[in-house]
Amino acid sequence: MKINENFLKLQSSYLFSTIGQKVRAYQAAHPRADIIRLGIGDVTRPLPAASIAALHAAVDDMSRAETFKGYPTDCGITFLEEAIQADYAARGVSLDIGEIFLSDGAKSDSGNIGDIFAEDNLVAVCDPIYPVYVDTNVMGGRAGNLMANGRWSGFVYLSCGEESDFLPALPESRADLVYLCSPNNPTGMAMNAAQLKAWVDWANEQGSILLYDGAYEAFITEDLPRSIYEIPGAKTCAIEFRSFSKTAGFTGVRCAYTVVPRELMAGGTSVNALWARRQATKFNGVSYITQRGAEATFTPGGRAQVRDTIQYYLRNAGVIKAGLEAAGFRVWGGVNSPYVWFKAREGLSSWELFDLLLEEVQVVGTPGSGFGPSGEGYFRLTGFGTAERTAEAVERISRRFAL
Ligand code: PLP
Repeated sequence: MKINENFLKLQSSYLFSTIGQKVRAYQAAHPRADIIRLGIGDVTRPLPAASIAALHAAVDDMSRAETFKGYPTDCGITFLEEAIQADYAARGVSLDIGEIFLSDGAKSDSGNIGDIFAEDNLVAVCDPIYPVYVDTNVMGGRAGNLMANGRWSGFVYLSCGEESDFLPALPESRADLVYLCSPNNPTGMAMNAAQLKAWVDWANEQGSILLYDGAYEAFITEDLPRSIYEIPGAKTCAIEFRSFSKTAGFTGVRCAYTVVPRELMAGGTSVNALWARRQATKFNGVSYITQRGAEATFTPGGRAQVRDTIQYYLRNAGVIKAGLEAAGFRVWGGVNSPYVWFKAREGLSSWELFDLLLEEVQVVGTPGSGFGPSGEGYFRLTGFGTAERTAEAVERISRRFAL
């Protein structure tokens, strides 16, 4: 008997546990301290009222034999896929139902997608990055070893630093699977149509596949693509992950979807058919109740409620961005994203700034180095708190760091 030794290569996920330990230790030493948490990557506002009503009604459906639903995959229910299809159509993207795969999360899908690709594919990732892309490929045997510089051998790292506004540059060497996330977690930066087109053209030329994470597309306010499929040619080279989590507050309900176009072929095989086979074998569908709740976010009332909540988080992010800029920090994100990314001053490391913010102004954020070695010296705050506490945190930071 042998375990999958790739798991042993992974370090324990210490970022959020270290943050928790430090905050608890500070609170124990300063019981009266009023700590504000702006490190949070989870939503805090309730579900849209339209979803709540739909969830209740769906529970009632389950109470009567005539409307009861069993395995979602066997029931032929397609109302949520149809609502998603119509949502894409409104942006000029035509999909058929068989190209939309519902799931319990973009985390699961972006992690599981590696199942259908060979182990010896070269994987390209950004640094800093949402850690799931890296860790799941390490588990899948696509990485070598963790090097002293904090990066993995066997991966292609896309250059994406301050000089390119934290947006990834095309790789100079081969890369078979490329993870792109726009708007990005943790930097909050989003790609425009020209930038996405360069990726699509490159991938089609190379025969590579883009794994495009659009978990934050609902936060886009500027005139930018909301889907990779708005770019001509994307259907032959891209898979797109989307989620109701950050869009509609479903982090605790769990509902997402992945689009795998039928035109997407790899070595003469339909990628859509492989993913359909993988999902049919390992996943039994999203519950009827959840699907009804998600469907309601596409009704006129649901859309308006979703928009209000997104605006609320974006206003918070805007307050953080403006406050940090006024205090003299260099800031990215916070416009098309709930995430605000900024550079620590005075040569401070990410963790040194974490300690300073905790000890001097009692504000908790997330050290940029937790998202990859190139995040060192940067810091992430989020707009997911309450408006009042966000304003208070920004005021404290401004008072302490005012130029
Ligand atoms: N993708 C990115 C970039 C994320 O930041 C997150 C959550 O933080 C997810 C996916 C996970 O989404 P879900 O809740 O649908 O699993």
